[in-house]
This record gives sequence, structure tokens and C-alpha cells, in this order.
Amino acid sequence: MQTTPTLIRNAAWAVLWDAAAERHVYGRDVDIVLRDGHVAAIAPHADGPVDSDLTVIDARQMLAMPGLVNVHTHPTTEPAYRGVREDHGVPEQYMSGLFERLQAFRLDVTGQQAAMRLAYAELMGAGVTAVVDLTAPFEGWIDVMRESGLRVWVGPGYASARWGMSAPQTVTWTWDEAHGRTGFRRAQAIMDEAEADPSGLLRGIVFPAQIDTVEEGLLRDSAALAAERGRPFTTHIAQAVIEVQEMIRRHGMTPIQWAAAIGILSPRAILGHAIFIDEHPSIRWHAARDLALMAEHGVAVAHCPSPFARYGEHLRDFGRYRRRGVRMAMGTDVAPHNIIEEMRLAILLARNAARDLAAADTAAVFHAATVGGADALGRPDMGRLAVGAAADLVLVDLAHPLMVPARDPLRSLVFHAADRAIRHVFVAGRQVLADGRPTLLDVGEAAGILAESQARMLRDAGRHDYRGRSGDAIAPLSLAPHRSQTGPGGRA
Ligand SMILES: [Zn+2]
Repeated sequence: MQTTPTLIRNAAWAVLWDAAAERHVYGRDVDIVLRDGHVAAIAPHADGPVDSDLTVIDARQMLAMPGLVNVHTHPTTEPAYRGVREDHGVPEQYMSGLFERLQAFRLDVTGQQAAMRLAYAELMGAGVTAVVDLTAPFEGWIDVMRESGLRVWVGPGYASARWGMSAPQTVTWTWDEAHGRTGFRRAQAIMDEAEADPSGLLRGIVFPAQIDTVEEGLLRDSAALAAERGRPFTTHIAQAVIEVQEMIRRHGMTPIQWAAAIGILSPRAILGHAIFIDEHPSIRWHAARDLALMAEHGVAVAHCPSPFARYGEHLRDFGRYRRRGVRMAMGTDVAPHNIIEEMRLAILLARNAARDLAAADTAAVFHAATVGGADALGRPDMGRLAVGAAADLVLVDLAHPLMVPARDPLRSLVFHAADRAIRHVFVAGRQVLADGRPTLLDVGEAAGILAESQARMLRDAGRHDYRGRSGDAIAPLSLAPHRSQTGPGGRA
């Protein structure tokens, strides 16, 4: 892929990689050259003539930092839940609304394509340059990835069982192993297609959807395929109390323990979301082995605090997982796809869980959202600003009112400005976001299309919901309509 070489000139601040110490450090007043998809040079700023082939960006009011790595997203569905899922949950299912929503709400392909465009714009708008997109595959999926210019790990999901529910307190698993195998074959074809893309930006990630919905043989074959093809592997595991209870009923052990027992945990495994481990207060299973198993097998956790925090739950805790040797990475499981807000929430929840300021801080979550994710994907050339690394770079506006005084620009970014201060984003040296707007991705009509698809999804919910309710009955509006608009003559 041809890109114009770029000089980021005189960046006031830069987050640079200290390879010897294996940590990010602050640099001041530096010049950074991006060439042929890589960081070609990083040097103290020097005045004087500039090579004529370079596009120059004046960075005197900017922070240069490595692009953020988002290891867990569902861009093709989550924007359709805007205004629907934020206050939704089922008390009988330990507050999780997952099973009820998946049964009742089905988004059409037009809506999925529109949702994806909006989500990809959100992702790059929050400084993400590499993303894991986990989705049941559909027409046009890879085309939008290609158009966006982002680096994408394509995760076509498949499962051997389908969740259902017939009462608030029950979840059922309906098995169809042949369906799972068909999905696995289709996923392989899609990953092969993505990896053949001439951009070199698309990669496969093997994604059996959930630990409780995929049969053992298919999980083993999935992990074997990942190993054979050098791909990362991911699944949802320990993400719901109901799931953990079911796995204990089936196997007499937690999902993490069962995954270890069947041999699918390895350093290429990314676990979404490993919250409900045996020691978690909502589980309290006697074993207390899950953290040690995760550390021993070298897995990474895709930490996505928002959806669980909305249900009143959280991982206990970020700092403890790290101290026990578990690798931490960050993701955005729901909309908004704002990984910087997730970083802030990760800090706050860890401190609240641990009652300890040291449980998580800006440096630790920034590490997880860059190096942590890159290493989990097997890409030590990403998530770092260093000569020879991928030219995946973000420029943050230090003059934004929420960034000033920019005494410590990462703190300003994580605790104050978040995506609002993200100005320019480069992936493999190509600018995908300029002045906060996507340069390649067309989001023109996506909002209107998604609104129509969401309306259909809510209207048709009654056909799928176990009690035949409309979407508005499952997830009512946050406020009731005004009295003048109800009853005779009113609109509602
Ligand atoms: Zn997820």
C-alpha cells in the first residue's frame, strides 16, 4: 500500500517506548518520521530544511502516542442498541440482559452495515488503530473494514448451541453440532479471504462465540486451527453468572477450569471477559484456582468494564489480576466504542473494588490499551512508538480546553478530554482520521439507515421474545410521554 511519508514535526509531547525497561515514557519536542508503513525515525526536534517528499504536520500543540489496540468489539450490532440496552437487565439473571436481548432483538443486514460504519468512526475517533471485530458474518462485512483503513482482526463467530429463555429465571441451550461445524468452515474461508487482502491490514482471529455454546470437539479444533495458522483465539468466557452456574452443572468446574482442562488456554487466547472467576463474590465457588490458571497458561483478558458496570458488576480487580500475572488488554464490548472512557472506568472500578489507589492508574491502563492488546494479538511491533514499529499513531490536541493545563497529557486525556481531543489518526502511515473526521470511511447515510433498522428490530421483537413483547415493552423509554400526548387525541 502506497502512503505519503509524513513528518510529525516538533511534537510537544510524545509517548515513546523504552524497550529496555519495557514501558512507555514521556518524550518532549520530538520529530517523528512515518515511512513505508513504519516509524522510520524518532529524534529530538531539529530546525532546518525538511526532505521535500515529506508531508509535514506541525505538532507543537500536540501529544503523539501509539494507536490504541481494542481487542474486543461487536461493531455490527452494538450501535443498534443505543437507547435500548443502557438501563436494561433481567434481575432473575443476575441483572444480565444478554440472553433476553439476543432472543428478542434481530438487526437486519442493512442495519448491521450502517451500525458498523458508525462504530468504526467511533473507534478511530477515540484513537483506536487496531481492532478485533467479533461478529456473526454477513454480506459486506469485510468491504467496510477495507474501506475504513483500520487494522482489523476479523473474528467470524460460530456456535453449536443457541441460547433461549422461556421464563425470566431460565436460560436454555438448544444444540445443533452440524450448524457449529458449518459456521467453523465458513469462518475459515472468511479469515483466509481477509488475510489475502493486499492492504495487509486484515488478519483472522478464531472466534468460537461462547464457552457454553460451543461443543468440546469444536473448541479443541478451533484452538488447534489458531495454533496451526499463527492466529489469535478468543471466546466469551466467565461473562455471566448464569453461564458459570451452567458450566459447573455440566462439568463440576468453572468455565476457566474447564477451558484449561480441554487444552484451549494458551498465550494466543484472549478471554472476554473473565470477570466471574471462582473467587468473584457473585460466584464464590470453592476452588480459587482461576486466576492462577489464567496466569499459568499466559492468556490475556479483554477487559471491557462498561456493560458489566451497567449491571452492577465488575472485575475484582484489574490490579489483582496483574499482580497475579494475568495479562490485561482493553476492549469496548458495547457502544460507545470509546476505549478511553473504558480506560477511565477500569481505573475507577479497580480502585473501588480494591479500596486501593494503586489497583490501577493511568500508566497501567494505557499499557493495557496499547502494549497489552498488541502482545495479546502477537504483534510486538504495535502499541508502541519506536523506530521500526508500525506507523499506527495518534495525535492529541493539547490546546483543547479539556486538555489544559496539559501538565500530564495522558491524565488529561484519560480523565478529562477522552475522544474529544483526538485530532489525527494514522494506520500503517496512512491518515484515517483528520481533524476528528474519518478520511476514508463514508458514514454519510449510516445514522438514518440505522434508525430505521432499529425501529424494525424493536417492532419485530414480539415475534421472537418469549412473552411476545414489543421492543418498547422490553426496554421502555427512560421517561414516560407527556400527558397531553397520551390518551384520546394524543400521539401515543
Ligand atoms: Zn463481547
